[in-house]
Amino acid sequence: MQNALSDNRIILLTSSLSYRARAFLEAARRLGLEVVQGLDMPPPLADYWQPTLPVDFKEPPRAAQDIFNFAAQKPVRAVIPVDDGATVIAALASELLDLSHNSSEAAYAARNKHRMRELLSAAGVPSPRFRPFQVGDDPATIAAEVNYPCVVKPLMLSASQGVIRANNPAEFEQAFRRTAGIVKASGGESDESHDCTHVLVEDFIPGFEVALEGILTEGRLKTLALFDKPDPLDGPFFEETIYVTPSRLPPPVQEAIFHCTAQACRALGLREGPVHAELRVNEQGPWVVEVAGRSIGGLCSNILRFGTSMSLEELILRQAVGMEIESLNREERAGGVMMIPIPGAGLLKCVEGLEQAQAVPGIEEIEITAKLDNRIMPLPEGSSYLGFIFARGETPQVVEAALREAHRHLRFTIVPEIYLARR
Ligand code: ADP
Repeated sequence: MQNALSDNRIILLTSSLSYRARAFLEAARRLGLEVVQGLDMPPPLADYWQPTLPVDFKEPPRAAQDIFNFAAQKPVRAVIPVDDGATVIAALASELLDLSHNSSEAAYAARNKHRMRELLSAAGVPSPRFRPFQVGDDPATIAAEVNYPCVVKPLMLSASQGVIRANNPAEFEQAFRRTAGIVKASGGESDESHDCTHVLVEDFIPGFEVALEGILTEGRLKTLALFDKPDPLDGPFFEETIYVTPSRLPPPVQEAIFHCTAQACRALGLREGPVHAELRVNEQGPWVVEVAGRSIGGLCSNILRFGTSMSLEELILRQAVGMEIESLNREERAGGVMMIPIPGAGLLKCVEGLEQAQAVPGIEEIEITAKLDNRIMPLPEGSSYLGFIFARGETPQVVEAALREAHRHLRFTIVPEIYLARR
């Protein structure tokens, strides 16, 4: 049980790779919450760095125990994961601390794509046929056993990293080897937070894609925003680009998407906090690609405002600590974000056209997150973007057009890997 001293303190689990810590820290400051950052750090680095609360994301049970030990001295109201990598740890720690949160089983199911498929399929939630394989399996043998087109994917990575479509056995062999390589490179043998030994193969779901941002309270789902993804996502790699809300889909389709997501949350056991669901929709209705027990990734949440001007992060923190939420309704105006894809591997040397892009009517902000003179890597090996373009406007059409026009003005000079290798 927590006492009055804990009223203002929360633990925010972040890593140095997170895009999202800043928005959560700002929201906490606005709400007068004291934040202790649980920073992902292996013990040797933590000894050297000495952050207030070092947490090793690769060892969830030990990480949860470290959080518990800290909170035993300094009580906290909530343990908030900023990204996918900490959702299971936050759930385990919350169980130890008796804080209301998703169960660790549900958090794990929302994190591990194989477990997720098992639970969705058992509950009859529309979701593709799937089969796990070992990274060391012979792709030539498996190629004869799977359906086409199919999608090969890692179990526990995110941002579409390592997700590849294959239309026939020859493509499958290549895709499998590539995804298996990405999975093996993603973690060491002792890494408990990753499954570095398996790859999932699923039937390809045709259709267009949407993302539902929602929040769960005692198992009840409320949609915060439904995003259309106007660019087709048909592979071979699945690069996210434009998200626009409100959705232009007819209300009955939107309702079907909501019900499918709510069914999926129940199947996984998710009951509290943010959910970010990706679904594909075709003539048979919505299909669940995935449901994550966290909020939208990257800097995309910048485009969401609720009630008078509440950010998504403020809403999540308010819910987590039980503060009043004035409104869960998104503002009236349409909003959109473009995740700027990385066109090729290499060294980012120069970004031009920012001023012209920023001057496009409706564009609110452009944030280039890739660093100059740093190596960048496209999908499927990479998992980041060049940056984000944000727009608001009267209608989703206007917002989408503004994002596309701003992107046309941007020019990125990338010195290709092949040239770097020769130097
Ligand atoms: P991640 O968690 O890395 O984003 P997902 O499983 O959500 O991985 O897949 C990333 C993207 O790949 C999806 O948004 C979708 O566009 C595409 N995708 C994944 N699985 C399928 C599938 N079975 N059928 C069609 N597209 C898929």
